[in-house]
Amino acid sequence: SRRYSVRDGLFGSRRQVVRAVTDVSLAVPQGATLGLVGESGCGKSTLARLAVALERPDEGRALFRGESVWPRLPADFRRQVQMVFQDPYSSLNPRQKIGGIVGEGLVIHGVGDAAFRRERVAELLRMVGLSPAHAARYPHEFSGGQRQRVAIARCLALEPQLVVCDEPVSALDVSVQAQIVNLLRDLQERLGLTYLFVSHDLSVVGSMCDEVAVMYLGRLMERSPREALFAEPLHPYAKALLSAVP
Ligand code: ATP
Ligand code: MG
Repeated sequence: SRRYSVRDGLFGSRRQVVRAVTDVSLAVPQGATLGLVGESGCGKSTLARLAVALERPDEGRALFRGESVWPRLPADFRRQVQMVFQDPYSSLNPRQKIGGIVGEGLVIHGVGDAAFRRERVAELLRMVGLSPAHAARYPHEFSGGQRQRVAIARCLALEPQLVVCDEPVSALDVSVQAQIVNLLRDLQERLGLTYLFVSHDLSVVGSMCDEVAVMYLGRLMERSPREALFAEPLHPYAKALLSAVP
């Protein structure tokens, strides 16, 4: 569970507590892609942030390979768990060159020398469909789709096991969305990644995920294999979501 306390009114005269996630128990099997869908405000991002230890649960636990991530992160957690955020315009440091952004984790974790890191950054840029020459450029010179490719390259630098994607394509143009979804899927097949894939877009989830979890008002309503969910959703909210898919 995660509660947020929110100030109510201009002068914060009252405090209101929002229970963002309640009683959710959800495991992502290694190598799988688990989709997490639900309407705006239902707690998807909060759950994703709990999984990567950006939020601390008020009750309950977040586990990585059976080890609790609070009060102390399991060894190598920061290398093995990465996140791709929704907005590629705010998730990249505008003052840092692309090479520095992609290679930052390598520097922080002391991986290789400068020459090794340069080569690794070039390899990562190629993996996401960019060119090594892009390393010398700045984020403002890139389109939204290219920025998201940079963010994906950054998250792959340390060879993670689990990648949590929070609406990674919803800020992008529809024509670019498919390219990024295809990239994420190819990378998963090549690298054997495990994904927790948050989206409110069932067509994106349908093309990405083996299994889909449906949240509603902070609770987990249903978890089904993709085919089963699309063929016969159990929860009324999942039915409504599906009926909105063209
Ligand atoms: P969306 O699809 O719009 O991204 P979501 O499913 O990701 O929505 P969350 O961002 O997890 O939803 O938010 C769940 C609830 O918690 C909402 O009611 C939201 O207003 C509230 N909330 C989220 N973050 C905070 C915060 N930092 N402070 C206060 N309330 C918050
Ligand atoms: Mg969200």
